[in-house]
Amino acid sequence: MRTHSLLYNDATDLKRSLQAARIRNNEHLLVQVFSGNPDIDYLYLLLHEIHSLLPNCSIIGTTSAGEIYQGMVLENSTIITFIQFDQASFSLSHVNLDYHPNSLEAGQLLGLQLCESASPALILCYATGFALNAETLARGIVKHNPDCYLAGGLAAAPKPQQTSLVFYNDTLLTAGAVAVGISGQNLHPTLHFSPDWMMLGTPMQITETDENRLKSINETPALEIFQRYLGDDAGKGMNNACMQFPLLTERNGRLTARKCKAAHRDGSITFSGELQPGESVRFGIVDPVSAMDASKQLFEHIQHDPPGVVFMYPSQARKVLLRSLTADDAKLLHGVAPTTGFVTLGQFYYTPEHQDFLHYAQVVLTISEGGQRRLHLTKSESKTDYSEHTLEMRALSHLVNTTSRELEEANQSLERLANTDALTGAYNRRKMLDILDVELKRAQRYGRSFSIIMFDIDDFKKVNDQYGHQAGDDVLTKLVEIVQEKIRDTDSLSRWGGEEFLILCPETDLQGAYENAERIREAVMETKFNDKISTTLSMGVTSYQPEDNLDEILKRADQGLYHSKDSGKNHVTNWE
Ligand code: GH3
Ligand code: MG
Ligand code: MG
Repeated sequence: MRTHSLLYNDATDLKRSLQAARIRNNEHLLVQVFSGNPDIDYLYLLLHEIHSLLPNCSIIGTTSAGEIYQGMVLENSTIITFIQFDQASFSLSHVNLDYHPNSLEAGQLLGLQLCESASPALILCYATGFALNAETLARGIVKHNPDCYLAGGLAAAPKPQQTSLVFYNDTLLTAGAVAVGISGQNLHPTLHFSPDWMMLGTPMQITETDENRLKSINETPALEIFQRYLGDDAGKGMNNACMQFPLLTERNGRLTARKCKAAHRDGSITFSGELQPGESVRFGIVDPVSAMDASKQLFEHIQHDPPGVVFMYPSQARKVLLRSLTADDAKLLHGVAPTTGFVTLGQFYYTPEHQDFLHYAQVVLTISEGGQRRLHLTKSESKTDYSEHTLEMRALSHLVNTTSRELEEANQSLERLANTDALTGAYNRRKMLDILDVELKRAQRYGRSFSIIMFDIDDFKKVNDQYGHQAGDDVLTKLVEIVQEKIRDTDSLSRWGGEEFLILCPETDLQGAYENAERIREAVMETKFNDKISTTLSMGVTSYQPEDNLDEILKRADQGLYHSKDSGKNHVTNWE
């Protein structure tokens, strides 16, 4: 396997370069074109030139927002990479999204065409992102090829308002996907993923989606959330800010970023991949520290077993915020193996082990065929020498992370203060009213049942009178510890007032709650709070009944409690 890359200038130059590199026409030659010039006439001419010089080769390419060439990240240039395989063969296919608007069907069609007469070890796919659910397209492609690797990415253009294109041989598509299946016995692809993101701000929950169209977050229209956190401009077309701050969610233990594409009048936003209702998301920003760590790991990995060729697919956000790091990566990798690639709007990532489908990070693909040249670098050569610029990013990352963590901790402690009783740590009355409200609505809406237990310490005044207020406080604290131990994780205990408490038991009928109350009553009765102090509880239990309101339920529990007091205390009463 042999690779030759050139920076395209004109036809004469191309011919000369091919001759010098001894690249000849044959069917084991794969030509990749990454072009920062999205002009259709220019690209047709270019494809025609390549094709007339190398009629038997397979050409595949995409427009880009940056082109990787000899360890540099260029712009508005056209890079052509010729990969001369020893034995591998190719199958090409494409799908026009104008005729196949359903992304899953489009993907399946691509996948089927690729495996018709071959079983590819690797599929490289480039797709225009705008009309596409790229995650679903990837799922469709691998449906018929579950054992192969899928890499590639979403076409970008040098400027956001420009149309991106993908192409193969002499066909150009403005809304479509092109793919090449590479088959061969000695073919070894590897895929590496760089987790480039750090989370910012507070977690939010996805509440409504329609495939890759996100309708609401925290029950609020998605666009409103974007404007609240990223500013009003977030709604005026999907500007750079939206590109730099994707939504992050954790899948299979890995951070996955979803970049938005378009905002709609109804307040929904389309993304390049999917987000699921119930998923927790946060805004993210490129994280130079983890990006650097991932780059070091990758370098260590490939320098010991250099591949035939390396494809880098950085995301656009990385190019903007980590420009020098991306160039450092390119330089470093190019020192080990010929490295090419382009700046994408998202990357396909599928291996039989990791079915991630779509990332918005940096994905690196390496390909080897048969025995590769072994290149052993000395220690000093392999030193990862990152530009100083990244130090600023590291400081920024530290600043942002520390600030968000401190804010989050402050929020948590405020929430704790607002919701719990300072002496015992049990929920306070206000919080319990909120919990009861949610539970009552759940019961009314879904016909669920719940019970409550109200209890009061017997003759507590005497404890205070005989042993002092501090001893009384200690009894209250210890009592809460005992009760917390006896109730389930899903039950909630609150200090309802002075020495009166309320427990909410979701999904529990009257009998279950009664037994629970009995267990608590006995445990407290048997507890020696200190050498001298012991105490008992009087309790009232009731369950939710259809048509109930909160006042009614609380009144019944209270009646049960006072019935227990009237019956001589240290007693549990069910009140229906
Ligand atoms: P009963 O069996 O009828 O409930 O008698 P009781 O003495 O428990 O009832 P009462 O309502 O007369 O007295 C409640 C006592 O609880 C009075 C009050 O000082 C005490 N108390 C309320 N909150 C606290 C507290 O935070 N710490 C202490 N030490 N005592 C408290
Ligand atoms: Mg009392
Ligand atoms: Mg009382």
